[in-house]
Amino acid sequence: MSVTAVCRKCGGKAASDTFRLDYKAGYVVCPNCYDGARKNAPAKSGIQGPADRKAAPVKPEAPKPAGWDADDAAAEKLYKQKQRVAGQVESAGVDRLKFSCPKCSYSFTFHKEKWPKSCPYCDTAIHSRTTF
Ligand SMILES: [Zn+2]
Ligand SMILES: [Zn+2]
Repeated sequence: MSVTAVCRKCGGKAASDTFRLDYKAGYVVCPNCYDGARKNAPAKSGIQGPADRKAAPVKPEAPKPAGWDADDAAAEKLYKQKQRVAGQVESAGVDRLKFSCPKCSYSFTFHKEKWPKSCPYCDTAIHSRTTF
């Protein structure tokens, strides 16, 4: 016949012959506490450090489109053409101007008060009366 004893640890009652010595506590405890102590024994948890983050691969710069320089050249050429459309006007005397046709490169002089409407050589219209 077993004697009921009170566990010093949890205050619960259990048969005295089921008590076991808790080495940590230094006294006997009920089976529940004994098992609990064993279960709560520090298990080696696999705490892992921060996952290794693989460095994101650096994407190589996209190569410039094949013709980008050609476009630049075309734009520059167009720009120059626009400038040349106005023609080149130089002073050719007190009352005269010298005009270089942007289309045929024909140069001619005329009185500054009498701008020609077009190039006498290729008939290209001359727009800029205010260039000079
Ligand atoms: Zn207990
Ligand atoms: Zn011309």
